[in-house]
Amino acid sequence: MRALRIVGERQVIVREKPDPRPGPNEVVIRMQASAICGSDLHAYRHPRPADLEGDLVPGHEPSGIIVEIGRDVRGWSPGDRVLVYFRRTCGECWYCRSGHRNVCVNRRASYGVGADGSDAEYMAVEAASLMRLPDDFSFLDGAVMACQAGTAYYPLSRLGVSGRDILVVSGLGPVGLLATMFGQAMGARIVGIDPSPGRRVLAQRLGAHETLDPTVGPVGEQLRALYPDGADKLIETSGSNAAHAAIGDLLKPLGQAAIVGLGSADFRIPLMQLVHRQLVLFGTSIYPDTQVPEIWEFLRRHRLSLADVVTHVLPLDEGPEAFRIADSATAGKVCFRFD
Ligand SMILES: [Zn+2]
Ligand SMILES: [Zn+2]
Repeated sequence: MRALRIVGERQVIVREKPDPRPGPNEVVIRMQASAICGSDLHAYRHPRPADLEGDLVPGHEPSGIIVEIGRDVRGWSPGDRVLVYFRRTCGECWYCRSGHRNVCVNRRASYGVGADGSDAEYMAVEAASLMRLPDDFSFLDGAVMACQAGTAYYPLSRLGVSGRDILVVSGLGPVGLLATMFGQAMGARIVGIDPSPGRRVLAQRLGAHETLDPTVGPVGEQLRALYPDGADKLIETSGSNAAHAAIGDLLKPLGQAAIVGLGSADFRIPLMQLVHRQLVLFGTSIYPDTQVPEIWEFLRRHRLSLADVVTHVLPLDEGPEAFRIADSATAGKVCFRFD
């Protein structure tokens, strides 16, 4: 089969690799869509190729059709349309059993990080990682749901976003664009922040009421020119130090922020603002799979299309170009199709 491989700093190749066979508890899926994630770019931008996984297939946003079933797999058949929960969890710890699989304490290497991922024509997947793709959604929808839609929706649900809120979406990459789409459907007034003019236009199309450019001046001042009290809630998706430092200045007293973006290892926010304004900040890491049926239903009810955040769909053979576009931080979601 054809598969991508990251071979050095900002270097992706397309190569041949043997087709995977299913283990006893695995299925093999034929990929129909696979999307590039901001977290794939961490490996892509890595300065030391020696630290990259040897023969690993990148990609953890798979959507496809089951073509082969392992001996002990029950409940799945060839032809089933599926997406994959890429974080490999134990299914037995308290977190897995109480609907918080995303914070399993016995995690193994995720697909696309330590186990072969989805930027390939075929992928072997444990049956416990499969999620059914409803018939009324496309494979492209499935790939966006596999990582980013849940990563955007789950923190908004934890924030309890509603029509009473001014919600700042910090960073308008794919997760920020999805948070914009979901947040406006939840009724919030959305203010998006991103240095890319193209991404600000995309956010406006998806329902952002206002957008701010952080390169023209402090975003807190820009926000208070529109809303003198500041924002009720904020979702931080960019991972940038400057965005973190601005959180306290954007929020009202008692404001709440969900931190999603992983860009820099340091997280700094002025302590005086945190304490005196009694701000609530929490981290959030992907999503629990138990929430996915709710998200599909939310999309139906509000007539939203996850594919609206996809700006580029390329064949796998154009892997190097697809990564270059995603790395430019000016596009929406970049996806692979498999003809
Ligand atoms: Zn992802
Ligand atoms: Zn677990």
